[in-house]
Amino acid sequence: MEPIRCRIAPSPSGFLHIGTAKMALFNWLFARKSGGTFVLRLEDTDAERTEEEFVQAMCEGFHWLGIHWDEGPEFGDEPERGAYGPYRQSERRELHRNEAFRLVEEGKAYKCFATKEEIEAFRAEHPHAHFASKWRNASAEEVAAMGDASYVVRFKVPEGQTVIQDLVQGEVRFNNSEFDDFVIVKPNGDPVFHLAVVADDAHMKITHVIRGDDHLTNAPRHVMLFEALGFPVPNFAHLPMVLDETGKKFSKRLRGANILDWREDGYLPETMINYVVLLGWSPEEENREFFTLSELAEHFSIERLSKSAARFDRKKLDWLNGQHIRNLSIEVLCEHCVRILEKNGFDTQSKPPEWLTNLAAICQEKLPTLNRITELADFFFREVEGYEEKGEKKLFAKPESVLWLETAAEAMQSEPTWERAALHTAFEKKVEATGLGLGNLVNPSRLALTGKTVGPGFFELSELLGRETCLARMTKAIAHAKDLGENVS
Ligand code: GLU
Repeated sequence: MEPIRCRIAPSPSGFLHIGTAKMALFNWLFARKSGGTFVLRLEDTDAERTEEEFVQAMCEGFHWLGIHWDEGPEFGDEPERGAYGPYRQSERRELHRNEAFRLVEEGKAYKCFATKEEIEAFRAEHPHAHFASKWRNASAEEVAAMGDASYVVRFKVPEGQTVIQDLVQGEVRFNNSEFDDFVIVKPNGDPVFHLAVVADDAHMKITHVIRGDDHLTNAPRHVMLFEALGFPVPNFAHLPMVLDETGKKFSKRLRGANILDWREDGYLPETMINYVVLLGWSPEEENREFFTLSELAEHFSIERLSKSAARFDRKKLDWLNGQHIRNLSIEVLCEHCVRILEKNGFDTQSKPPEWLTNLAAICQEKLPTLNRITELADFFFREVEGYEEKGEKKLFAKPESVLWLETAAEAMQSEPTWERAALHTAFEKKVEATGLGLGNLVNPSRLALTGKTVGPGFFELSELLGRETCLARMTKAIAHAKDLGENVS
């Protein structure tokens, strides 16, 4: 059997779209699973829209995800690699044109000199028919007589049916009469997408075309071209697009359409890969959702790709991100946290490295996104200016509030080592001595130390905050609770 070769062939239009990322992932996984080759080909023939920075932005998206191509164009410091280049469609124009004119010579395509007016007149007369060019069967003399008049090259669509054995959609049949003799070379000499994609896939020896189902209706044209050109027809797998939360195609304008938006919003590339793959594939192991990239490469199978599109589910994504964050080493998580804290103006430089590692460790279980670290840890870097309103009512404004806070402060004062387990023991002792519940001591104290009702583990955060800061914040909270009490009575 021929070695498996698959590809992603995006048009660089500004960023890596989440839908393109999904197609790239499936191609990449399939190549990894089968020991094949994954090719990146840039379909950059739309000259107006393609700018170098667009290409760079898209490649950056792939790099962030960790999808590396075995063959592909130059990108940043990476040289072009692979034996089937160039990997930019714009540099393959001559090859496409040669293939088109080979078809003309073989009588499978023809130069069509029909003018715009002639085509419009035909359409007006036959509103439901395909354009039937009189040049389809013109003689060599008639063509020669046109000199250098402007023309397009049209493909002679053969009679009959075209059948696609799609690996995901199953067998799909098309009557060739549905298609007119479509243009393969434009009047300015540029090859048309259908021709370029087929010639490139053929010359790059692509064995599997895995792409969006928006291309399913193009597939019969492609099959006809492969056959006319005398190349083997690759296997096709047309996959559903990524849908947004409302079930519509994920619009380019929506936040999150750019895969790098997720990086900015505190999601891990591991999460995005895992999530995007689950949007179109289900593992054999029922109900399993967490996969690392290498696990996916191991378990992936084309047979378990789904025909129907799954909607985007933000809750599930956040859950999955939390799982991947838990799976990070503390050192890596710490680097992420420091970067985000610094970016948001928190001074991490003044903290010792072990302290920062400890901070990452006590927050690890609590982070649905990396960016949440700022909410979870702000009180370590600045004074508590105010208290969460609901918590204040429930924990500071009750008749017992001052007693709770003072008892907790006594427990703290009795503990000189300020180590989390010892602090816990000191609180337990107080609970025993006073008959108050542990929650009565911990919850108001958490509000006192952090200004919030939720956050990292209480004894852990107290340890990191330090004895002096904790005691000062307790004193301040006790005074505040007394004020509240006086105002109530
Ligand atoms: N350039 C096409 C696109 O971005 C891909 C064509 C293909 O995969 O065959 O949709």
